[in-house]
Amino acid sequence: MALLITDECINCDVCEPECPNDAISMGAEYYEIAASRCTECVGHHDEPQCKVVCPVECILVNPDVVETRQELFIKFERLTRG
Ligand code: SF4
Ligand code: SF4
Repeated sequence: MALLITDECINCDVCEPECPNDAISMGAEYYEIAASRCTECVGHHDEPQCKVVCPVECILVNPDVVETRQELFIKFERLTRG
C-alpha cells in the first residue's frame, strides 16, 4: 500500500523533508503523497516516517494502491536505481 494524506492535514511542513523517496509535496490545498513514489518507507526505514512525525495523524493507507511488501521493495529498488 502507498499512503495518503487526508484533508485533516494542517500543512505543518513536518513530513515532507522526512520522506526518503521525495513522495510528499504541497497539493492544491494540503500536502499530497505521490503513490508511485511511496514505498511505506520499505527499504529505508522500519516505519513510515511521515506517519511517525505527523502531529495530527492524518496519514492513512491508500486503499486504491494495494501492494505487498515485496512489491514495495521492488518499487524501492526502481526508485533508487539512479
Ligand atoms: S511512507 Fe515513507 S515513502 Fe511513503 S510518503 Fe511517507 S515517508 Fe514517504
Ligand atoms: S505532517 Fe501531517 S499535518 Fe503536517 S503537513 Fe504532513 S500530513 Fe500535513
